[in-house]
Amino acid sequence: MSLLVQKFGGTSVADSDKILAAARRAIQAHKRGDQVLIVVSARGHTTDELIALAKEITENPPAREMDMLLATGEQVSVALMAMAIESLGVPAISFTGAQIGLVTDSFHTKARIRNISTERMAQALGEGKIVIVAGFQGVDENYNITTLGRGGSDTTAVALAAVLGADGCEIYTDVDGVYTTDPRIVPEARKIDRISYDEMLELASLGAGVMHSRSIEFAKKYGVPIHVRSSFADAPGTWIVEERDARRLGVAVTGAALAKDEARLTIRGVPDRPGVVHAIFRTISAANIVVDMIVQNVATEGTTEVSFTVARGDLAETLHAAETAARQIGATGVTYDAEVAKISVVGLGMRTHTGVATAMFEALADAGINLQMITTSEIKISVLVDRASAVPALRTVHRAFLLDRPSGVPGPFDSSSETHCKPRAMKLVPLAEVEADREAGVDSSASDLRPLGMEDLVIAGVELDESQARVALFHIPDRPGYAARVFRAIAEAGVFVDMIVQNVGEEGNSLLSFTVPRSAADRAAGAVRSAGIADVSVEPALAKLSVVGVGMRTHTGVATRMFAALAERGININLINTSEVRINVGTDIARGQEGLECLKRAFAL
Ligand code: ADP
Ligand code: ASP
Ligand code: MG
Repeated sequence: MSLLVQKFGGTSVADSDKILAAARRAIQAHKRGDQVLIVVSARGHTTDELIALAKEITENPPAREMDMLLATGEQVSVALMAMAIESLGVPAISFTGAQIGLVTDSFHTKARIRNISTERMAQALGEGKIVIVAGFQGVDENYNITTLGRGGSDTTAVALAAVLGADGCEIYTDVDGVYTTDPRIVPEARKIDRISYDEMLELASLGAGVMHSRSIEFAKKYGVPIHVRSSFADAPGTWIVEERDARRLGVAVTGAALAKDEARLTIRGVPDRPGVVHAIFRTISAANIVVDMIVQNVATEGTTEVSFTVARGDLAETLHAAETAARQIGATGVTYDAEVAKISVVGLGMRTHTGVATAMFEALADAGINLQMITTSEIKISVLVDRASAVPALRTVHRAFLLDRPSGVPGPFDSSSETHCKPRAMKLVPLAEVEADREAGVDSSASDLRPLGMEDLVIAGVELDESQARVALFHIPDRPGYAARVFRAIAEAGVFVDMIVQNVGEEGNSLLSFTVPRSAADRAAGAVRSAGIADVSVEPALAKLSVVGVGMRTHTGVATRMFAALAERGININLINTSEVRINVGTDIARGQEGLECLKRAFAL
């Protein structure tokens, strides 16, 4: 007998008809002989309404009481769902998070799951009942009700599928799958048939609201296949699966995402010495703020600039922390821009296709959109633009990669343009776990799945890549078109670019740097010069150190721990570039090995 987990989102249980329809779906599976467990969200806009209600009483409701309030939304849904299923003649039982022993840490409104006891659910399932569990909620060790953060019911569903060893996890929602971008913003967006965990992780954390990004961390860690599909239709939706099952030859970009409410902060005149970056992010992560894009470029005249983005709502608090940090390290000051948005493209194919960055920058240049910041990882490119340009920018990029065309039609990068990235001098160390950002010393004896919390960070390894060189371009005018020109020249020279970093510049001048294979450094610099850009410098070799894992962004402490370890050894960081699955830093080639050793120790590998 197989076990199926089905999750119904807010719109899928908005009224009694929809609840009954969802109930029938579960019953259908039950009649086929499956054991069925349902996770439900609060109905319709209930969670928003509860938040608004609290805000009517006080601007700053205590987080514990907020959780007490928000958890009621899901409790209503489970009870109604159980009644619906019983009324259709099938035995059912509802449970709150506390009743199934879903234990979390005590970070109210953003709690992480520590462990789940399966006994009570297994018993009810064994008795032939359909089990209904409230999503989004749990309890801490002291029986305080906690919630997992907005959209957290997805995470409950995938976590239950993981602990129960379910055969599948279906996410029923108001769209019929994961689209190439949010179909509400870009109506030409198309459904994706299959997508890998890493791509979905990046898309979800870069703004695609269709799945809670932490649910994908679970799915990847425990190998749970997810099927995202419509509550209101029977067509197959999108499968989120292992990479080997999701790879699509000839397709460079799988999807695009928009994060609209970002704010950018830049610390100016940062002295170029070991430890400064650590000092900045220690102060910010101590304030419990999630930092998103982090960009640091080569230093000029002994100072550098460090930029990063945060959610706009966190700006005031972040500014305060950043100003404190700037004073401590002797930086000249902090500037910010609250009117920015981030556009990203994601795709496994980027690992082997050249020209993705060029195509993205060119399309945006043609649309007259200025790029304020750029950061890349192996499978994504993000750019920061003015908020007013956000939607046109998303549309432009979506069209440029032919994401509005039926899949199967090769994009502008057919397989003939595949250039395999150079062999790398890489070392991969075995799996280990660290609890990097939450308090240590947790009593884990009660856990029935793993010694530490289920949602703890997993570090897959640290890597050293000594095969790259860095090209830096100074005085890039702050107007549309430059990045496109540079990378067109590089692409024409046939050079594979790995990391790209562009920082907002002082007085309209920005600084753009990128890494290429060592053997191609001079060719790349020559190409840029012949495109009419004079101010170019080449660092013929650099060491790229990476920490690789799952959930690097949601665990804010990872970057801090990495920077701290390097600072302690006096290793200077001259380039930073982050993503959901890795944090990369560039350092002096002579310190690479030493850096690798100290990171292994820092992450207990
Ligand atoms: P639920 O209440 O079922 O959890 P959500 O509102 O959380 O539903 O998620 C579904 C919504 O996510 C869709 O209506 C859509 O507007 C939005 N969305 C954002 N990005 C995407 C995407 N790439 N694909 C599909 N939907 C997306
Ligand atoms: N009800 C919660 C929310 O609206 C959780 C969820 O729907 O996933 O965020
Ligand atoms: Mg949701």
